[in-house]
Amino acid sequence: MSEIDLLLAKALRKDLLDENEALKLLQIKNCSEDYYKLISAANELTRQEFNNKGYIFTQLGINAEPCSVNCKFCSMGKDHYVMESKWRKDLTIILKDIEALVKAGIDDLFIMTTADFPIEQVLLIGKHAKKLLPPAMPLVVNIGDFDYKTALQLKKVGFTGAYHINRLREGIDTDTTSEMRIKTLDAIKKAGLDLYYCVEPIGPEHSYEELVTEMIRARNYQVQVMAVMRRIPVKGVPLYHKGQITAVELTKIAAVARLVSQPTRAMNAHETVEMSLIAGVNQLYAELGANPRDDYSKTENNRGFSVAKVRKLLQDAQYEV
Ligand code: SF4
Repeated sequence: MSEIDLLLAKALRKDLLDENEALKLLQIKNCSEDYYKLISAANELTRQEFNNKGYIFTQLGINAEPCSVNCKFCSMGKDHYVMESKWRKDLTIILKDIEALVKAGIDDLFIMTTADFPIEQVLLIGKHAKKLLPPAMPLVVNIGDFDYKTALQLKKVGFTGAYHINRLREGIDTDTTSEMRIKTLDAIKKAGLDLYYCVEPIGPEHSYEELVTEMIRARNYQVQVMAVMRRIPVKGVPLYHKGQITAVELTKIAAVARLVSQPTRAMNAHETVEMSLIAGVNQLYAELGANPRDDYSKTENNRGFSVAKVRKLLQDAQYEV
């Protein structure tokens, strides 16, 4: 057996892969024989462990406004805002959107804001949103950094989880710090909220070592849902000229993250690339409203996928949705 065969066998036994072993998998040459062995192992583990279930998550971006965290990849960074307009969605409209999404058949609902959005309003939206969801449907918040007290408040109004990330090159490509992000990650876990993690936003300049650090961080937080996301070069943002990684590369990274991080419920790769659905990815996002990867603030009319489109993709990949 080759070294890669042994590593994949280890991953399929769900033994933990260390940093060097994860690096070896990421170093596999794209489209080589080992590449397809890797894809196959990640696919096998997901279909067995997650009972071939596919998940439709939906993210609702409720404001398009300049954000002080100023991420160099985001269309809403305050120093380079490139959205075509600025707005905050009215509560009544948000609730109408949510009703329609529930009717369309989603699994988890994400409420996303820029980092400066008032927490009182997030809590209010959460409280009203919760009443519209079936009791078991997860309600997830994707906002700026917050402390333990706020995490408890979020939980109290009905949020069940939080999407929060130590982004790649935090403090270099963003105006916040890893320390701040990690404090929030710890607050989320301490409060008993489910942490939704992602290695993002991956660009051609990032080393495999940087990616592995985040994969292992996710595993240490014992995430149920894991993801990888490639950076979308939005015209006019500072990192636009760095370009993007290929779909084949993103698929390899998703497969490795699946094996290394060991999520217990679902694996995602974003933005959606269909080939990742045979590489261990069983969850996709529909998107509405503002989106940091889009310069059009109603992403449902531009980059964002609809619930119906996501369902079709998962069904085509022979997942049960
Ligand atoms: S990615 Fe999020 S935190 Fe960063 S500038 Fe955009 S909205 Fe703000």
